[in-house]
Amino acid sequence: MKHVNVVVIGCGVAGSIFAMHAPKHQSLCIIDKKNLKEAVGLKKPCGGLLAPDAQKTLAKLKIPLPLEVCASPQLFGVKTYDLQSKITRHYQRHYINLHRDRFDRYLASLIPPHVDVVDKAIVKSLDLKNKKLTYIQNDESHELSFDVCVGADGANSLVRSHLNAPKMRHYLAIQEQFELKDYPPHLGCFFDASLTDSYAWINIKDDILEFGGAFPLKDSLKRYETFKSKMIDLGYPLKTPLHKEACLVNSPKTLSEIYLGQKDVLLIGEAAGWISPSSLEGMSYAMDSALIAAESLKSSDPYLSYRKLSRSLKLKIFLKQLKSIVLYTPWIRWCVMKSGLDEVKVRQ
Ligand SMILES: Cc1cc2nc3c(=O)[nH]c(=O)nc-3n(C[C@H](O)[C@H](O)[C@H](O)COP(=O)(O)OP(=O)(O)OC[C@H]3O[C@@H](n4cnc5c(N)ncnc54)[C@H](O)[C@@H]3O)c2cc1C
Repeated sequence: MKHVNVVVIGCGVAGSIFAMHAPKHQSLCIIDKKNLKEAVGLKKPCGGLLAPDAQKTLAKLKIPLPLEVCASPQLFGVKTYDLQSKITRHYQRHYINLHRDRFDRYLASLIPPHVDVVDKAIVKSLDLKNKKLTYIQNDESHELSFDVCVGADGANSLVRSHLNAPKMRHYLAIQEQFELKDYPPHLGCFFDASLTDSYAWINIKDDILEFGGAFPLKDSLKRYETFKSKMIDLGYPLKTPLHKEACLVNSPKTLSEIYLGQKDVLLIGEAAGWISPSSLEGMSYAMDSALIAAESLKSSDPYLSYRKLSRSLKLKIFLKQLKSIVLYTPWIRWCVMKSGLDEVKVRQ
């Protein structure tokens, strides 16, 4: 059986950034079920909007963004509409509009050659007590033993499920793609408290319009379809979907849901619960938690060090939890939207 010092399960944003920055003297293997080299197979459903905090981390790491990773158009405002109070407001936003699958492959391409990158391989079983796992690649089963396991395997984390971790609040994110046709391109954010205590969105990727939303697990599909029909009534061209995708998305309601692991097991990115409960923006947290965990590997007790070094990231999530109370309590949202605070007056 092959042995490595560190095994990382998941090569999304968190896994790639971790693999780029982990100490070089430790042998490292990163495993992902996706094809990391070609645009075929599994794709992560995601809005692909790179928030200013994520841009700042890329700046800090001197990682440039190639044009081919970016989608068109880049949009500077978001239309916000509450379907119940019928208030519309526009707000300035500073996102970079990305193709998420291309961004993931680009980050994976930056992993240094001393790291063993195993793609199109799914981790099927994990034995944290005896520090070994089994993964399947090309219908063949492989065993691997390790000293430290890093769970970078996203919202539905296998690693987290093997730990005594608190239950996370999560939603089902459902998203469909449509032909944009002549519809004016814009970003949209839509609230309807009768269907979800999160939100729905409109996004544009080249000539494709994406409509999606995050819904409580109970009756999620029905809630999505009802939301979509209300959007059709508003004039959105959502009648003929080209593609439909869905996945879990975490949204920590309390700080105790953020779980960093245990001795010799670290959870990073969304697996740990690092995602904003107000906007569901997770890429900056995936990067920042990965960097802190990579730094912690230099310490004699990586788990303790990771806990200590990630305190300010926890504070950031706490502030987002306060923001989500404002955003998702209908009467407070009504007051904020009605006040016109921070709105951009768009010309008709
Ligand atoms: C619909 C939707 C829209 C979103 N929009 C945005 C947005 O616009 N901006 C933003 O910043 N964030 C957004 N997010 C959140 C963001 O996508 C995540 O928080 C972020 O991707 C987390 O990164 P990660 O690396 O922790 O996990 P992931 O990106 O989910 O990566 C996990 C990786 O682990 C692999 N994996 C999982 N299990 C196994 C296994 N058993 N074996 C092998 N490999 C495995 C997966 O293939 C995947 O590559 C959105 C999320 C959703 C669901």
